[in-house]
Amino acid sequence: MIYPWLSEIEQQLSTSLRTGRFHHAQLFNGQQGVGKTAMVEQLADALLCQQPSNIKACGQCKSCQLNQAGTHPDKFNVQVEGQSIGVDEIRTVSDFMSHSAAQNGNKVVIIKDCHKMTTAAANALLKTLEEPSPQRFLLLTTTTATQLPATILSRCSRTDVQVSDTDSTQQWLASLQIIDYPWLSLFYQQPLLVQAWQQADQLTTIEQLYKFATSLKQGHNFSELVDIINKDSELIRVFCLFVSDQLKQQLVSGMQFDAYQQAQQALTEFYQNSTQVLGLNLPLAVSRLAYSLRNG
Ligand SMILES: [Zn+2]
Repeated sequence: MIYPWLSEIEQQLSTSLRTGRFHHAQLFNGQQGVGKTAMVEQLADALLCQQPSNIKACGQCKSCQLNQAGTHPDKFNVQVEGQSIGVDEIRTVSDFMSHSAAQNGNKVVIIKDCHKMTTAAANALLKTLEEPSPQRFLLLTTTTATQLPATILSRCSRTDVQVSDTDSTQQWLASLQIIDYPWLSLFYQQPLLVQAWQQADQLTTIEQLYKFATSLKQGHNFSELVDIINKDSELIRVFCLFVSDQLKQQLVSGMQFDAYQQAQQALTEFYQNSTQVLGLNLPLAVSRLAYSLRNG
């Protein structure tokens, strides 16, 4: 078992492999930090292993050794260059699929963030999906299946990866000594994101963002906040999530619905401007946001 919250999905995949109903194209859809990458890597290793048990690779055979070294000739990871996956990368995929396998016969292609495929790339992939060859497997991940063309979706077996039992992530995070943060429950669907923050020594920064979000209305000096979110657009998203959560709590405790909607609208505009407008005056944008929350 890779992560406790993925055990149900692992069982489903094991069953479909055992009963010969395993689809040649598997799409894993879910939020960042829920474990899609770990899932497809494990699946790829198992498909290439010479003696897998269910969807667990043995870790001993030649194939497993090649995978551990990251040099398995029958495994191909499509690289995202910049913001998109182009048609050339996908042509490499069909080329890779058409050659015979070096080890046990299976060949596996992993395409992470496949919603980043250009239209031309998606069309090229469609050909591979429409004419599946035996022992060839495509493992795709996406955070937004809705952005994928229906033609691609209809030719994949889709698994929605999510945490159904948040107790299990809470316990798992506790085992990493990540506990008692008032904002933690907002990320029970993204436990690996929280782990990544811990590994990057960022939990204190996240905690600071939370404090700024909860005191935004009273605040007047935002330079420290601006310093933090200026560095990383992902942190802007987290900050906005915190502010939005604050607003929801205020709504529950009696905030007028109109005011709530206006505040959420101001927040959405702030997020869009601060992540999309080049050369935006961020200190001014934060002051404006605080102003509209105060007067909402
Ligand atoms: Zn093996």
